[in-house]
Amino acid sequence: MQIDVDVSGRKVVVFGTRAGTRRVVRRYARAGARVTVAVPGLLPPVLASPDGVRVVLQPDPADARGLLRLVGPAWSVVVVDAEPELDRHVTALAGHLRVLLQREEPAAAAGQVVLVGGGPGSTRLLTLEAVAALREADVVLYDRLAPTDDLAELTAGAELVDVGKRPYHHPVTQRSIEEQLVARARAGQSVVRLKGGDPFVFGRGGEELLACVAAGVPVRVVPGVSSALAVPAATGIPVTHRGLSHSFTVISGHVPPPAEELAALVRLGGTVVVLMGIANLEQIVAGLLAAGLDPAVPAAVVERGFSASQRSTFTSVGRLPAEVRRLDLVSPAVVVIGAVVDVAPAAGRTGELVGALDAVAPAQVPRP
Ligand code: SAH
Repeated sequence: MQIDVDVSGRKVVVFGTRAGTRRVVRRYARAGARVTVAVPGLLPPVLASPDGVRVVLQPDPADARGLLRLVGPAWSVVVVDAEPELDRHVTALAGHLRVLLQREEPAAAAGQVVLVGGGPGSTRLLTLEAVAALREADVVLYDRLAPTDDLAELTAGAELVDVGKRPYHHPVTQRSIEEQLVARARAGQSVVRLKGGDPFVFGRGGEELLACVAAGVPVRVVPGVSSALAVPAATGIPVTHRGLSHSFTVISGHVPPPAEELAALVRLGGTVVVLMGIANLEQIVAGLLAAGLDPAVPAAVVERGFSASQRSTFTSVGRLPAEVRRLDLVSPAVVVIGAVVDVAPAAGRTGELVGALDAVAPAQVPRP
């Protein structure tokens, strides 16, 4: 059941511990309610309350006047993890005053970091585990490539921090991200580090994991759908296909791989998937061709996978750099090189906007 009520300006009184009530307090504060939270002890104030929230000491359950003053003109009281006796008195008083009484499970124990893979480009590719972690979060530190459109709705009023990493442009250093993760977890927050794709595929998730481990902060990883596999799939390119390719290698083009690595890829003969490859594509292709790759091998570039402006360009590896320039192909994009490219239903057409997720008609895929 969902009832939509405009709570702005309405008085809401929450009973419970600071940690247990922090989620419901944030949610109502964000919705514009006048929130008072009655906690068993005012110190230590480890978890900062959102602006405008009044934090008071719980009245003694037997202090009927004190309780009445607190609850009297409220629109609703929310009981989270209050002592049973206080719970009883508040419940009775709310019934008497006909104030809406709500109960909510306390927010989970905090002081942890969860490294969450957000999948590429769309919140529809979040895993159930990722959604659960976001709902528990006090704060989400996210990247540009993480799916952020519905982020506010996916959390229970968590603070959202853009650590805005862009290629070749890191306004927030990796070091400072790691320090923030550790400091916030130590302050008792449940911290989600949301990354595009999978956190352990060119995502520096390993470094963040180690930073937490070194600091003694509890940390876990929620794997994500990696763009390396999913973005080719969004346009109907399988990275392996019976009879065409039985291996695939994912490389980073951030720094062009040395000649001997590219030569090894050509010898291997499988599919090559390049992430962060647009800026250095010319060099990468030159290296592959110099190592003997046939320039006629099919290639594709898929930009902005799973977004409304997803675009797929089909060509050959020999023509790839010229096509990138001609069509002004930009990051974020996944480049696929190999015979599997021709399996895509749209192979041969190029530069068309191909819608995301459900745009591929599997029936058109040829069988080997
Ligand atoms: N951890 C991420 C990869 C980070 S590297 C993952 O597993 O997907 C960043 C690169 O990923 C981009 O330069 C681009 O090559 C690719 N990428 C990520 N999201 C993408 C998207 N929605 N569409 C196309 N490429 C994407």
